Amino acid sequence: KKKHFVAQKVKLFRASDPLLSVLMWGVNHSINELSHIQIPIMLMPDDFKANSKIKVDNHLFNKENMPSHFKFKEYCPLVFRNLREKFSIDDQEFQNSLTRSAPIPSDAQGRSGARFHTSYNKRYVIKIITSEDVAEMHNILKKYHQYIVECHGNTLLPQFLGMYRLTVDGDETYMIVTRNVFSHRLAVYKKYDLKGSTVSREASDKEKQPRQPEEGAPPAPKSRMSQKLQTIRIATRFYCAIKHTKELPTYKDNDFINDGQKIYIDEESKKKFLEKLKNDVEFLSQLKLMDYSLLVGIHDVERGEQEQPEEESEDNDAGEEEGAESDGGATGTPPDSPSNTLDSNKPLGPGEFDPTIDVYAIRSHDNAPKREVYFMGVIDILTPYDAKKKAAHAAKTVKHGSGAEISTVNPEQYSKRFYDFITTIMS
Ligand code: AMP
Ligand code: AMP
Repeated sequence: KKKHFVAQKVKLFRASDPLLSVLMWGVNHSINELSHIQIPIMLMPDDFKANSKIKVDNHLFNKENMPSHFKFKEYCPLVFRNLREKFSIDDQEFQNSLTRSAPIPSDAQGRSGARFHTSYNKRYVIKIITSEDVAEMHNILKKYHQYIVECHGNTLLPQFLGMYRLTVDGDETYMIVTRNVFSHRLAVYKKYDLKGSTVSREASDKEKQPRQPEEGAPPAPKSRMSQKLQTIRIATRFYCAIKHTKELPTYKDNDFINDGQKIYIDEESKKKFLEKLKNDVEFLSQLKLMDYSLLVGIHDVERGEQEQPEEESEDNDAGEEEGAESDGGATGTPPDSPSNTLDSNKPLGPGEFDPTIDVYAIRSHDNAPKREVYFMGVIDILTPYDAKKKAAHAAKTVKHGSGAEISTVNPEQYSKRFYDFITTIMS
């Protein structure tokens, strides 16, 4: 009998969380499938309603990592592929980024209280979203796509790159992948979330604390298996606590003002930035979206240089995992597809960045008191005015404090106030 040691290699989607394994599996599957589908000359209206679904049962292989039953649904696969192309993201690179090693949890908490993840190489951000967000994405997708085509991907808006539903144990989880506003290599030491509203717009004392791992007694384990899972979870938290104690608090409008923070960029960069921002908020206002933020991250070049060795070791961490990855794709990924050759070009010096990857980066001008790099992008655009009105006071009070002022603002007013505030911080 002849044994088949087929050269077909298998990827292990090793992650601390089964949901992440399913995401990795799903993105891998999706990109492989898409690679067999020809790129159409143009998108059709139905593409904006389409989805692809796959149900996996009795998945026995790799059962240490993967649930044996799960489902994966991708929304509008052709549209998102087209968007990736518009944002100059190579599908192979996208697949590698999300599957070579597990996404890393961030300790910062989002709107829903859910953590977000970054891809292991920090190029992409993965967020858990609600089914309402998924519905809203469908509502805006055609116009968003058109806008991206018209501006040639030159925007401060989130770059939406893929949207998925994962079903594990009957629980549905929705996720969306966007480009990271921050750099995949230059560390940010301070970050602000700006809305142009000064009502209860400062980080609370609690928010300013470095994040601790979640407290609270874990529920009593039911079986050996869940005991094991429990242990893994606790270990994961512990690991996060070590690895991410430096997770930054998110400061807000009033903190920005009170810190006397400045964005020192030259006139040309400022003009370009504000032009983009103006178009972007006008677009959001037309779509009756509001409550979005400008995410601002500041990299200090000198400080970055001093902390360099540590950054390097983090890179190595990611590299270590490559053992799992080198079991390579059955698709025969070229080891160095063009988008992966960054490192083989001239090495980047302190504070330097590749503007095709760190697309939101702007460096400080020559007369700035410190050499800095700023990362600024609009996030959290999926709140429609209607939903907001419906959410009424109770929810608003939780989110914004008792500031009633906010409830009277409509999307157009929001966009103006937002834009005006951002122009003032640019001086
Ligand atoms: P589901 O994929 O059925 O779990 O849907 C999640 C949310 O997205 C629900 O609120 C749906 O109404 C919405 N949704 C799903 N597919 C579409 C679509 N093709 N067009 C509009 N909304 C959709
Ligand atoms: P959100 O859930 O959108 O309110 O986001 C919560 C936090 O996640 C923000 O304050 C950011 O720190 C981070 N975040 C969200 N989207 C991005 C992104 N595209 N790039 C980098 N960080 C992000």
